[in-house]
Amino acid sequence: MRIAIIGGGAAGFMAAITAQSSDSNSEVILFEKSNKVLNKVKISGGGRCNVTNACFSISELAKNYPRGGGFLKKAFNHFYTKDTVEWFEQRGVELKKEDDNRMFPISNNSQTIIDCLKSECDKHKVSIKYQNPVKNIKPLENGYMINNDVLVDKIIIASGGSPKIEALQWLLDIGLEIEKPVPSLFTFNMPNEDIIDLMGVVAPNVSVHIQGDKLKHIGPLLITHWGMSGPAILKCSAWGARILAGKNYKFNVQVNWSNLNELDYKEIIKENKKSYRIIANKNPFNLPNRLWLYLIKKIDVDSKISWNKLDKKSGNKLLNVLFNDSYQVNSKTTFKEEFVTCGGISLHQINPNTMESKIHKGLYFCGEILDIDGVTGGFNFQSAWTTGYLAGKNSVI
Ligand SMILES: Cc1cc2nc3c(=O)[nH]c(=O)nc-3n(C[C@H](O)[C@H](O)[C@H](O)COP(=O)(O)OP(=O)(O)OC[C@H]3O[C@@H](n4cnc5c(N)ncnc54)[C@H](O)[C@@H]3O)c2cc1C
Repeated sequence: MRIAIIGGGAAGFMAAITAQSSDSNSEVILFEKSNKVLNKVKISGGGRCNVTNACFSISELAKNYPRGGGFLKKAFNHFYTKDTVEWFEQRGVELKKEDDNRMFPISNNSQTIIDCLKSECDKHKVSIKYQNPVKNIKPLENGYMINNDVLVDKIIIASGGSPKIEALQWLLDIGLEIEKPVPSLFTFNMPNEDIIDLMGVVAPNVSVHIQGDKLKHIGPLLITHWGMSGPAILKCSAWGARILAGKNYKFNVQVNWSNLNELDYKEIIKENKKSYRIIANKNPFNLPNRLWLYLIKKIDVDSKISWNKLDKKSGNKLLNVLFNDSYQVNSKTTFKEEFVTCGGISLHQINPNTMESKIHKGLYFCGEILDIDGVTGGFNFQSAWTTGYLAGKNSVI
């Protein structure tokens, strides 16, 4: 059996290692278009590689995928987070869990993961062909022809996400359906908002709502020199990837700075109005002080007055800015952040238990090329490990 893997990323490596180690008589050849493999693993997680997430319930795990959660739920029954931890451990790489459940190698270095994957490939004699872009595949009666040149029995496509549909023409050419790709996991640009002067400030528990839509997400919010980022924003961008693309990334976000309901804000403001303390020095909403002072200034209240001098109108303005603050977004950015593609090969054409195409026998898919994407936290790599493992294992059966 001759199996071609197209793409040397996390999914392609997992597929190659699993196929070759499941059947040592097979010949596994990995085609990589560039002169480097595992590029994204290298830069992932800020150079530390967030390998997976310590979420060990399949139904909870599946909830972290805006696209593909239902499909993955079936695939996770064969290989999920627990298997990933064991897989690396059995190969000498221990993973550690951080407070927010993200899992990293204890070395805190993505190179550990790269070394492990490369040495497994060497051990099982996977042949890697660098600078070998696959431009076309042709289904034959018994196998496939690659680039009008190489004959193989089966193919595993692990060529990663692509925000441009044109890059996937070679797959459209063989009748595969592709969900239109758009970016996911991006941050919001708001160059016209002076809140960006607070770059580096983190509000710990914010609720973010996209105006005119149902999209609403909760979590920490980071103010950056270009706009807003952090888990609450990234979740909005992932779950709203298509909606926000439809708005051409021009929309308003409403921010509830302490994620409280209106009545709770009113209650806290009322209680504090009894206080003789200066507003600037008494911030009852668990907000970073720089942000608190910014919000007070934004509503034109003198921060040097005491709480008991806050008149009704100013009290209402305070309630409004805390509960329903609004900012104008006019583009997105993926600079230095984890970003992925929403869209890709339609899942209804793929068997979730084997990753085999329902259209072409012997053709398998894994990783970000599929219409699967997760939120941040190690979920995207987990999808690559799971689908790569299944494609590799089933390709040699
Ligand atoms: C900056 C950044 C940080 C990230 N950090 C994390 C993280 O910490 N945790 C997490 O879970 N996810 C993270 N992600 C997402 C994660 O990296 C991807 O989801 C994952 O790498 C997808 O793996 P893949 O193997 O499917 O695709 P890729 O890693 O993109 O690999 C695809 C490979 O295929 C090759 N290729 C493409 N087309 C062809 C072709 N026609 N012929 C031959 N070769 C081809 C490419 O050159 C590439 O090497 C991050 C993403 C980015 C951009």
